[in-house]
This record gives sequence, C-alpha cells and structure tokens, in this order.
Amino acid sequence: MTVTTPALADLTTIRVGGVPDRLVAVDDRDALVAAVLEARDSGEDRLLLGGGSNTVASDDGFEGTVIHIRSRGVDRLPAPEGRVRLRVQAGEPWDDLVALTVGNGWSGIEALSGIPGSTGAAPVQNIGAYGQEIESALVGVEFLDDITGEEEYLSRAELGLGYRTSTLKRGRSGVVLSVDLELTDGTVPGALGAPLSAPVAYAQLADALGVPLGSRVPVAELRRAVLALRSSKGMVLDPADPDSVSSGSFFTNPIVSEQFARSLPAQAPRWPQDPLEPDTVLTIPLDGVHPMDVPPLAAAEYTVKLSAAWLIENAGIRRGFALPGSSAGISSKHTLAIVNRGGATGADVAQLASFIQARVQAEFGVVLQPEPVLVGLEL
Ligand SMILES: Cc1cc2nc3c(=O)[nH]c(=O)nc-3n(C[C@H](O)[C@H](O)[C@H](O)COP(=O)(O)OP(=O)(O)OC[C@H]3O[C@@H](n4cnc5c(N)ncnc54)[C@H](O)[C@@H]3O)c2cc1C
Repeated sequence: MTVTTPALADLTTIRVGGVPDRLVAVDDRDALVAAVLEARDSGEDRLLLGGGSNTVASDDGFEGTVIHIRSRGVDRLPAPEGRVRLRVQAGEPWDDLVALTVGNGWSGIEALSGIPGSTGAAPVQNIGAYGQEIESALVGVEFLDDITGEEEYLSRAELGLGYRTSTLKRGRSGVVLSVDLELTDGTVPGALGAPLSAPVAYAQLADALGVPLGSRVPVAELRRAVLALRSSKGMVLDPADPDSVSSGSFFTNPIVSEQFARSLPAQAPRWPQDPLEPDTVLTIPLDGVHPMDVPPLAAAEYTVKLSAAWLIENAGIRRGFALPGSSAGISSKHTLAIVNRGGATGADVAQLASFIQARVQAEFGVVLQPEPVLVGLEL
C-alpha cells in the first residue's frame, strides 16, 4: 500500500503549501517528545504544526519533517478556592477548550472564543481578541527545549509575552507539550445567578452586548456575542464561508513611537501601548519605521499602536481586492485577512502581502509585519 504524504495545503487553514519530505502525526505527549528528539538527533529541519491556522507555507513544501501535533487531554490541577487550574495537552483544539470552560461556568478565556488552532500554539503568539489575551489566564507551559533535549517548566514571565509575540515566536527553539491555565470558577457555592464573564474590555463587544465597558455578563452570553461578531468578519472557520479560508489577520497592528504617530493623519486610529520589552524591539524592522525614528529608539519609546486595517484601507486597498489573475484576495468582510479564493498558491499569497506592504510603506512609511509564521516564503 502506498501512503501519500499530504501537502501543507491540506493541513493549513489558508490551504496553501506543497508536500513536505516527511510528516509525523503524534497523538500523545510521549510521541511528541520522541518525534522532536528524533528530528533533533537526525539533524534535519523540523516544523511543528498544530491546527495550521497561523502558518503559510511555500509551494515547495518543507525540506525536513513536519510534526503534526494531535495530543489531547484536559486535566484539573489543585487550585485555590474559587479558581480552576487546567493542564491542557498541546494538540487540544483551542475552541473546544474554551467551549468546555464556558460550559462549566469558568471565566478567563471566553473572549478568545472561536480562535482556531491548537492550545499548544496559543502562547506562541499570545493569542488575543476582544480585549483578552491568553496571557491573563496563563500560568506556564511544560516545554521541551530541543537544543538541550531537556523538559522544563516555563512560567508566564519566562515566556516573554507581548502583543502577538513570545520568546517562542521570537525564535526560542522547542515545543510546548502542555499549557497550564488558571480561571475563575463562577459556580462557587453562594454565587448568585449565571456564572459571569471577566469584565468586557472591548468597545465593539460591549456595544454588541448592550452593556457599558467593564461590565460582566453571563459567560455563555459573552461567548455567543464573540462568535457572532467573529462570524460577521469571516473570523470563524466555516466551510460555508469562503472568507474564512485564511490565516486570520495577516498583519499585526504596528507599534511606533509617539513622535512617528504624530506624523500620521489625525484620523488614523491609535491606541496607547505598554512600552515594549527590550527584546521585542528587534521584531520591528529598522527600515520599517519613519526616518524620524532612525537611529533606533529604545524599546520603551514604542508606545503607540496603529490600526493595520486603517493603514491598508487608506493606502487604497479595499475589501475584496485581488491582483489581476491571482486567486488570493482580501476578504470581503475584513481588510486584514488574505483569503485563498480557490486554487491560490503560497506564491499568490506572498505576492499580495508584499503588494500591501509596499503600498502602506509608500503611503505612510510603516512596514507592516506578517502575523502568521511564513514557512519558505518571504515578503
Ligand atoms: C479565521 C482565523 C481567525 C483567527 N483569529 C485570531 C485571533 O482573533 N487572535 C489571534 O491571536 N489569532 C487568530 N488567528 C491565528 C491562529 O488561529 C492562532 O495564532 C492560533 O493560536 C494558531 O494555532 P495553530 O495550532 O493553528 O498554529 P499553527 O499554525 O499550527 O502553528 C503556528 C506556529 O506555532 C508553532 N507551534 C505550533 N504548535 C506548537 C507547540 N506545541 N509548541 C511550540 N510551537 C508550536 C508552529 O511551529 C508555528 O510556528 C486566527 C486564524 C484564523 C484562520
């Protein structure tokens, strides 16, 4: 019997990417450890893949082994009164986990409803949406360092989390084996009514719920509202929605200095941003900031977050846009998502992303940075 290796297009949500040299699917923690150590010992390159929802791969596939992480399991750990601690295996689908926690009346990750992918990948870019990030519920991760071959525990602080980043996304090599989260138990005896969410921290979500910012609503209601908002933007994987054949937002919101932000049109949205961690500033390309910001500023001076969607739209690129002859296009619901409209290649996606980058740079002097991990592709 011949077993054919699936293409990365079959394992990623944007459905592009060629056939890798080798694919190993691992169904439990031990198999994951063994596969990572085997790849390390053989000296070949390896690519970790969970749900493939933040990976955009080249049409050439991957020279090396793709380790497809499918380990499952959620265990309860001891926790203080009123709190719930969970240890979640890396391959557990993130949204199944959110549904489980909400179903039990536990709050802390409910605004992250509907984000595709695996739990092990969630700390990699500190997933966030609607005013919540995994950081606020994260205790730490069981981690296999594939340079030393040692298993260790990395606390939240050691993961260096920031806006869509962590030490793992910035290049620390290894695999998250499991993720520990701490949530609030809204079902404690004596609590009145339905278990409540964490305070609503996003204006659009508060509006959708018809409550002031900072309110708590039943946790299940919050999940429903987030899923409805996400669906309206094509941000929930849905076989019936062609706009969801994407990697979610393709670009992160740029973080710039106050001085640079002042050079933009007054109507450009901007939000205060906690000063960056010193090592994150390396992720901002030095040629990607306005000439006024050269020589490079200290990390602490990058304090303003801009809207990538606004920059793209105001560089003249609208929803539904596509380059002539290309099957990659901008989502018809959300300017930040690049969509495979059917038969697009990795090269089509990269070409459109580079085009957007160049237009925004020419118009505003900002080089947008891709949010997904690009494998064998460059912008
Ligand atoms: C429709 C849609 C909507 C989205 N909305 C959001 C959103 O609102 N907010 C948000 O933050 N993201 C969003 N995303 C992006 C994506 O869902 C998240 O980044 C998710 O956490 C990726 O999980 P994954 O398992 O699919 O990662 P993959 O694409 O499989 O992997 C992503 C990266 O993590 C690495 N990795 C995977 N598993 C592990 C592991 N166990 N240990 C170490 N490294 C690992 C991979 O090597 C790769 O570099 C969206 C994506 C889509 C398609």
